[in-house]
Amino acid sequence: MQPSFDPSAAHFASRYVSAFAALPFAMQYGFAVVFGLVIGSFLTVVVHRLPVLLERAWRAEVEAAMPDAADLPKPAADPYPERFNLAVPRSACPHCKHVLRAWENIPVISYLALRGRCSTCGARVSPRYPLIELATGALAALSLYAFGPSWPAVAAFGLCATLLAAGLIDYDTRYLPDVLTLPLLWAGLIVNFGEGGFATLHDAVTGAIAGYLFLWCVYWLFKLVRGVEGMGYGDFKLLAAIGAWLGWASLAQVLLIAAVAGAAFGIVATWKKRMRFEEPLPFGPFLAAGGAITLFVGTPLYALFG
Ligand SMILES: [Zn+2]
Repeated sequence: MQPSFDPSAAHFASRYVSAFAALPFAMQYGFAVVFGLVIGSFLTVVVHRLPVLLERAWRAEVEAAMPDAADLPKPAADPYPERFNLAVPRSACPHCKHVLRAWENIPVISYLALRGRCSTCGARVSPRYPLIELATGALAALSLYAFGPSWPAVAAFGLCATLLAAGLIDYDTRYLPDVLTLPLLWAGLIVNFGEGGFATLHDAVTGAIAGYLFLWCVYWLFKLVRGVEGMGYGDFKLLAAIGAWLGWASLAQVLLIAAVAGAAFGIVATWKKRMRFEEPLPFGPFLAAGGAITLFVGTPLYALFG
Protein backbone atom coordinates (compact mmCIF):
# COMPACT_ATOMS: atom_id res chain seq x y z
CA MET A 1 0.00 0.00 0.00
CA GLN A 2 1.23 3.48 -0.87
CA PRO A 3 1.88 5.76 2.12
CA SER A 4 -0.62 8.63 2.01
CA PHE A 5 1.81 11.10 3.59
CA ASP A 6 3.41 13.53 1.16
CA PRO A 7 6.27 15.34 2.91
CA SER A 8 6.72 18.06 0.25
CA ALA A 9 6.34 21.64 1.40
CA ALA A 10 3.90 22.36 -1.43
CA HIS A 11 1.57 19.63 -0.24
CA PHE A 12 1.87 20.80 3.35
CA ALA A 13 1.01 24.37 2.32
CA SER A 14 -1.85 23.31 0.06
CA ARG A 15 -3.51 21.51 2.98
CA TYR A 16 -3.95 24.89 4.69
CA VAL A 17 -5.39 26.37 1.53
CA SER A 18 -7.90 23.57 1.05
CA ALA A 19 -8.90 23.72 4.72
CA PHE A 20 -9.46 27.48 4.36
CA ALA A 21 -11.34 27.02 1.08
CA ALA A 22 -13.68 24.55 2.79
CA LEU A 23 -14.89 27.28 5.18
CA PRO A 24 -18.16 29.12 4.38
CA PHE A 25 -17.67 32.30 2.31
CA ALA A 26 -18.68 34.64 5.11
CA MET A 27 -16.08 33.11 7.40
CA GLN A 28 -13.38 33.37 4.73
CA TYR A 29 -14.08 37.07 4.24
CA GLY A 30 -14.45 37.67 7.97
CA PHE A 31 -11.07 36.08 8.55
CA ALA A 32 -9.49 38.08 5.70
CA VAL A 33 -10.86 41.40 6.98
CA VAL A 34 -9.78 40.77 10.59
CA PHE A 35 -6.34 39.68 9.39
CA GLY A 36 -6.15 42.82 7.21
CA LEU A 37 -7.17 45.09 10.11
CA VAL A 38 -4.47 43.60 12.34
CA ILE A 39 -1.80 44.01 9.64
CA GLY A 40 -3.14 47.53 9.04
CA SER A 41 -2.64 48.31 12.71
CA PHE A 42 0.98 47.18 12.35
CA LEU A 43 1.35 49.31 9.20
CA THR A 44 0.38 52.46 11.14
CA VAL A 45 3.34 51.70 13.42
CA VAL A 46 5.67 51.06 10.45
CA VAL A 47 4.62 54.28 8.70
CA HIS A 48 5.16 56.28 11.87
CA ARG A 49 8.35 54.69 13.18
CA LEU A 50 10.36 53.46 10.18
CA PRO A 51 11.37 56.99 9.04
CA VAL A 52 12.57 57.77 12.60
CA LEU A 53 14.60 54.55 12.73
CA LEU A 54 16.12 55.20 9.30
CA GLU A 55 17.08 58.76 10.21
CA ARG A 56 18.78 57.46 13.37
CA ALA A 57 20.67 54.77 11.45
CA TRP A 58 21.77 57.32 8.87
CA ARG A 59 22.93 59.72 11.60
CA ALA A 60 24.89 56.97 13.40
CA GLU A 61 26.61 56.09 10.12
CA VAL A 62 27.63 59.68 9.45
CA GLU A 63 28.88 60.12 13.01
CA ALA A 64 30.95 56.94 12.76
CA ALA A 65 32.50 58.08 9.48
CA MET A 66 33.13 61.68 10.57
CA PRO A 67 34.43 62.15 14.14
CA ASP A 68 33.60 65.88 14.09
CA ALA A 69 30.02 65.27 13.04
CA ALA A 70 28.82 66.65 16.36
CA ASP A 71 28.22 69.83 14.33
CA LEU A 72 25.46 68.08 12.37
CA PRO A 73 22.11 69.82 12.72
CA LYS A 74 20.10 68.14 15.43
CA PRO A 75 17.09 66.15 14.18
CA ALA A 76 14.05 68.36 13.80
CA ALA A 77 11.69 66.05 15.66
CA ASP A 78 12.97 62.99 17.46
CA PRO A 79 11.43 63.09 20.92
CA TYR A 80 11.51 59.32 21.12
CA PRO A 81 13.32 57.26 23.75
CA GLU A 82 16.73 55.63 23.21
CA ARG A 83 15.22 52.18 22.84
CA PHE A 84 12.83 52.55 19.93
CA ASN A 85 11.91 50.08 17.20
CA LEU A 86 8.82 48.63 15.55
CA ALA A 87 7.87 46.73 18.73
CA VAL A 88 9.20 48.89 21.59
CA PRO A 89 8.02 51.08 23.29
CA ARG A 90 4.30 50.43 23.31
CA SER A 91 2.13 53.01 21.56
CA ALA A 92 1.32 56.04 23.68
CA CYS A 93 -0.68 59.26 23.37
CA PRO A 94 1.75 61.92 22.07
CA HIS A 95 0.06 64.52 24.33
CA CYS A 96 -0.13 62.93 27.78
CA LYS A 97 2.17 59.88 27.22
CA HIS A 98 -0.65 57.59 28.34
CA VAL A 99 0.40 54.08 27.23
CA LEU A 100 -2.38 52.42 25.26
CA ARG A 101 -4.04 49.49 27.03
CA ALA A 102 -4.48 46.25 25.12
CA TRP A 103 -8.11 46.97 24.13
CA GLU A 104 -7.16 50.49 23.00
CA ASN A 105 -5.00 48.85 20.34
CA ILE A 106 -7.93 47.00 18.77
CA PRO A 107 -8.11 48.31 15.17
CA VAL A 108 -10.95 50.72 14.28
CA ILE A 109 -13.22 49.54 17.14
CA SER A 110 -11.15 51.29 19.82
CA TYR A 111 -11.16 54.47 17.72
CA LEU A 112 -14.95 54.35 17.43
CA ALA A 113 -15.45 53.43 21.09
CA LEU A 114 -13.28 56.38 22.21
CA ARG A 115 -14.86 58.67 19.55
CA GLY A 116 -11.42 59.48 18.19
CA ARG A 117 -10.00 60.81 21.46
CA CYS A 118 -7.34 59.75 23.95
CA SER A 119 -8.98 57.90 26.85
CA THR A 120 -6.93 59.87 29.40
CA CYS A 121 -6.45 63.45 28.20
CA GLY A 122 -9.12 63.65 25.48
CA ALA A 123 -6.69 64.82 22.78
CA ARG A 124 -7.86 64.10 19.23
CA VAL A 125 -6.49 60.93 17.65
CA SER A 126 -5.83 61.31 13.92
CA PRO A 127 -8.48 59.52 11.81
CA ARG A 128 -5.53 58.43 9.72
CA TYR A 129 -5.00 55.40 11.99
CA PRO A 130 -8.43 53.77 11.54
CA LEU A 131 -8.39 54.78 7.85
CA ILE A 132 -5.12 52.92 7.24
CA GLU A 133 -6.52 49.93 9.15
CA LEU A 134 -9.76 49.97 7.15
CA ALA A 135 -7.88 50.30 3.86
CA THR A 136 -5.70 47.31 4.74
CA GLY A 137 -8.76 45.27 5.74
CA ALA A 138 -10.40 46.16 2.41
CA LEU A 139 -7.26 45.18 0.49
CA ALA A 140 -7.24 41.78 2.23
CA ALA A 141 -10.88 41.18 1.25
CA LEU A 142 -10.15 42.37 -2.30
CA SER A 143 -7.17 39.98 -2.58
CA LEU A 144 -9.38 37.09 -1.51
CA TYR A 145 -12.09 38.17 -3.97
CA ALA A 146 -9.68 38.56 -6.89
CA PHE A 147 -7.52 35.47 -6.38
CA GLY A 148 -9.75 33.15 -4.34
CA PRO A 149 -8.58 31.19 -1.29
CA SER A 150 -5.04 30.61 -2.56
CA TRP A 151 -1.40 31.52 -1.96
CA PRO A 152 -1.46 34.10 -4.79
CA ALA A 153 -4.13 35.92 -2.73
CA VAL A 154 -1.77 36.00 0.26
CA ALA A 155 1.07 37.23 -1.97
CA ALA A 156 -1.19 39.88 -3.55
CA PHE A 157 -2.13 41.14 -0.10
CA GLY A 158 1.56 41.28 0.89
CA LEU A 159 2.24 43.39 -2.21
CA CYS A 160 -0.67 45.73 -1.40
CA ALA A 161 0.32 46.16 2.25
CA THR A 162 3.91 47.01 1.31
CA LEU A 163 2.78 49.43 -1.41
CA LEU A 164 0.47 51.14 1.09
CA ALA A 165 3.21 51.56 3.70
CA ALA A 166 5.78 52.72 1.13
CA GLY A 167 3.33 55.18 -0.46
CA LEU A 168 2.37 56.72 2.90
CA ILE A 169 6.00 57.03 4.02
CA ASP A 170 6.90 58.71 0.72
CA TYR A 171 3.95 61.08 1.11
CA ASP A 172 5.03 62.00 4.64
CA THR A 173 8.78 62.21 4.17
CA ARG A 174 9.46 62.38 0.37
CA TYR A 175 11.58 59.31 0.87
CA LEU A 176 11.01 55.71 -0.23
CA PRO A 177 12.99 53.41 2.06
CA ASP A 178 15.20 50.74 0.47
CA VAL A 179 14.18 48.38 3.27
CA LEU A 180 10.72 48.31 1.67
CA THR A 181 11.40 48.63 -2.07
CA LEU A 182 14.31 46.18 -2.39
CA PRO A 183 12.73 43.21 -0.52
CA LEU A 184 9.54 43.92 -2.50
CA LEU A 185 11.54 43.57 -5.71
CA TRP A 186 13.06 40.26 -4.58
CA ALA A 187 9.67 39.02 -3.42
CA GLY A 188 8.22 39.75 -6.87
CA LEU A 189 10.91 37.70 -8.58
CA ILE A 190 10.46 34.84 -6.09
CA VAL A 191 6.65 34.82 -6.38
CA ASN A 192 6.97 34.56 -10.17
CA PHE A 193 9.72 31.97 -10.02
CA GLY A 194 7.47 28.93 -10.20
CA GLU A 195 4.06 28.25 -11.70
CA GLY A 196 0.99 30.24 -10.79
CA GLY A 197 2.59 33.65 -10.27
CA PHE A 198 1.42 36.99 -11.65
CA ALA A 199 3.80 36.98 -14.63
CA THR A 200 6.33 34.62 -16.20
CA LEU A 201 9.80 34.80 -14.70
CA HIS A 202 11.05 36.22 -17.99
CA ASP A 203 8.48 39.04 -17.92
CA ALA A 204 9.20 39.65 -14.21
CA VAL A 205 12.95 40.08 -14.70
CA THR A 206 12.35 42.24 -17.77
CA GLY A 207 9.84 44.26 -15.74
CA ALA A 208 12.33 44.90 -12.94
CA ILE A 209 14.97 46.10 -15.40
CA ALA A 210 12.58 48.16 -17.52
CA GLY A 211 10.90 49.75 -14.48
CA TYR A 212 14.20 50.96 -13.08
CA LEU A 213 15.73 52.07 -16.38
CA PHE A 214 12.69 53.93 -17.65
CA LEU A 215 12.42 56.27 -14.66
CA TRP A 216 16.21 56.53 -14.47
CA CYS A 217 16.22 57.85 -18.06
CA VAL A 218 13.34 60.26 -17.39
CA TYR A 219 15.19 61.51 -14.30
CA TRP A 220 18.42 62.22 -16.22
CA LEU A 221 16.59 63.76 -19.16
CA PHE A 222 14.87 66.21 -16.81
CA LYS A 223 18.08 66.89 -14.99
CA LEU A 224 20.07 67.58 -18.15
CA VAL A 225 17.40 69.57 -19.97
CA ARG A 226 15.81 71.54 -17.14
CA GLY A 227 18.25 71.12 -14.27
CA VAL A 228 15.57 69.86 -11.89
CA GLU A 229 15.16 66.60 -10.04
CA GLY A 230 11.58 65.50 -10.48
CA MET A 231 12.02 62.13 -8.80
CA GLY A 232 14.31 60.15 -6.58
CA TYR A 233 16.06 56.82 -6.85
CA GLY A 234 13.40 55.33 -4.58
CA ASP A 235 10.87 55.82 -7.38
CA PHE A 236 13.03 53.80 -9.79
CA LYS A 237 13.30 50.96 -7.28
CA LEU A 238 9.57 51.01 -6.56
CA LEU A 239 8.68 50.79 -10.26
CA ALA A 240 11.29 48.02 -10.65
CA ALA A 241 9.55 46.14 -7.81
CA ILE A 242 6.13 46.60 -9.46
CA GLY A 243 7.63 45.36 -12.74
CA ALA A 244 9.03 42.32 -10.93
CA TRP A 245 5.57 41.51 -9.57
CA LEU A 246 3.36 42.27 -12.56
CA GLY A 247 5.73 41.91 -15.52
CA TRP A 248 7.02 44.51 -17.97
CA ALA A 249 3.77 44.68 -19.92
CA SER A 250 2.02 46.24 -16.90
CA LEU A 251 4.44 49.17 -16.60
CA ALA A 252 2.93 51.51 -19.20
CA GLN A 253 -0.46 51.35 -17.50
CA VAL A 254 1.07 51.75 -14.01
CA LEU A 255 2.92 54.88 -15.21
CA LEU A 256 -0.16 56.27 -16.95
CA ILE A 257 -2.31 55.87 -13.83
CA ALA A 258 0.46 57.34 -11.64
CA ALA A 259 1.02 60.33 -13.92
CA VAL A 260 -2.69 61.16 -14.29
CA ALA A 261 -3.43 60.66 -10.58
CA GLY A 262 -0.34 62.65 -9.59
CA ALA A 263 -1.24 65.53 -11.91
CA ALA A 264 -4.84 65.57 -10.67
CA PHE A 265 -3.67 65.57 -7.05
CA GLY A 266 -1.16 68.34 -7.77
CA ILE A 267 -3.78 70.54 -9.44
CA VAL A 268 -6.30 70.06 -6.62
CA ALA A 269 -3.67 70.58 -3.90
CA THR A 270 -2.39 73.77 -5.56
CA TRP A 271 -5.91 75.05 -6.13
CA LYS A 272 -6.83 74.42 -2.47
CA LYS A 273 -3.60 76.19 -1.49
CA ARG A 274 -2.29 73.09 0.26
CA MET A 275 0.81 73.21 -1.94
CA ARG A 276 2.77 75.75 -3.94
CA PHE A 277 2.93 75.12 -7.67
CA GLU A 278 6.72 74.66 -7.79
CA GLU A 279 6.71 72.20 -4.88
CA PRO A 280 7.79 68.71 -6.04
CA LEU A 281 5.16 66.02 -5.60
CA PRO A 282 6.14 62.63 -4.19
CA PHE A 283 5.63 60.17 -7.03
CA GLY A 284 5.74 56.99 -4.88
CA PRO A 285 2.12 57.08 -3.65
CA PHE A 286 0.85 57.31 -7.22
CA LEU A 287 3.13 54.56 -8.51
CA ALA A 288 1.93 52.41 -5.58
CA ALA A 289 -1.71 53.14 -6.45
CA GLY A 290 -1.06 52.35 -10.12
CA GLY A 291 0.57 49.05 -9.12
CA ALA A 292 -2.28 48.02 -6.81
CA ILE A 293 -4.98 48.92 -9.36
CA THR A 294 -3.18 47.01 -12.11
CA LEU A 295 -2.76 44.00 -9.79
CA PHE A 296 -6.54 43.75 -9.41
CA VAL A 297 -7.94 44.87 -12.76
CA GLY A 298 -5.19 43.79 -15.17
CA THR A 299 -4.50 46.11 -18.07
CA PRO A 300 -7.89 47.15 -19.53
CA LEU A 301 -6.44 50.53 -20.57
CA TYR A 302 -4.50 48.83 -23.36
CA ALA A 303 -7.77 47.77 -24.99
CA LEU A 304 -8.57 51.49 -25.46
CA PHE A 305 -5.45 51.92 -27.51
CA GLY A 306 -6.16 48.84 -29.62
ZN1 LIG B 1 -3.60 61.54 25.98
